[in-house]
Amino acid sequence: MGKTICVTNQKGGVGKTTTVINLGSSLAASQKKTLIIDLDPQANATSGIGIDKNESHYTVYDVLLGNTKIENTIIKVFNDELSDFLYICPSNVDLTGAEVELISLDNREWKLNNAIKSIKNNFDYILIDCPPSLNILTVNSLAASESVVIPVQCEYYALEGLSQLNRTISLIQQRLNSDINIEGYLLTLFDKRNRLSHVIVNEVRNYFSDLVFETVIPRNVRLAECPSHGKPILLYDATSKGALSYISLANEIINRNSRRYAS
Ligand code: ATP
Ligand code: MG
Repeated sequence: MGKTICVTNQKGGVGKTTTVINLGSSLAASQKKTLIIDLDPQANATSGIGIDKNESHYTVYDVLLGNTKIENTIIKVFNDELSDFLYICPSNVDLTGAEVELISLDNREWKLNNAIKSIKNNFDYILIDCPPSLNILTVNSLAASESVVIPVQCEYYALEGLSQLNRTISLIQQRLNSDINIEGYLLTLFDKRNRLSHVIVNEVRNYFSDLVFETVIPRNVRLAECPSHGKPILLYDATSKGALSYISLANEIINRNSRRYAS
């Protein structure tokens, strides 16, 4: 059964979408069949993976509102380069309205969880990209996930908002999804020349200790460039520091989960 991991932090611009695209493609390159679900109306994961967000196709919005089954939204991406291992359920701006439309529906927190039940067996990993807020879309994503990756940028105010996020995750654990746990805090946008980056790394490691991934994602211009080419870093510049860091993160997650299954 596939593992569903949501990548979330209500703070904007911390590297959620960059992580979903590049962790997803690194898992795919390790022959783990991976589905990315773009749960953000900004649809940056969709466009960043080369899908035109203005083209008409079913999206995650249709899935949440019950217009179609998730199977009908899934698009295979980079099948030549990543040999059938990477897929996306896209988003578009329609999703902006979902929050209001979901309010009147029963079980509104469970829409995504219920929708993915039928496909969980088809994938090794399902990664969900969340919007920068703690809204009903993020709640759907947490209710549907086994674990959470929390990107933390190595900048001032990095820890701001994390206690609120952790409270939300605890509430989800108590009320909706007792199985959810923290996969890991991921330090992102690390600049080795900036003293503050080192201070934040130490602070986050002291505070969250074993819950912090060993891999640190560097600030790397190639990572910033690749969304405009509609490609993950592996297919844009496979030898860049950014690419190597996401391969290392994928390995950490694969190793950790194979140990968990073995024990
Ligand atoms: P939002 O909250 O708006 O969804 P986000 O948390 O998904 O943002 P990203 O879109 O992944 O964040 O990253 C924000 C910006 O920083 C983007 O322009 C992205 O290309 C850039 N970026 C992310 N990670 C890195 C990195 N490691 N090195 C350089 N640029 C990066
Ligand atoms: Mg994003």
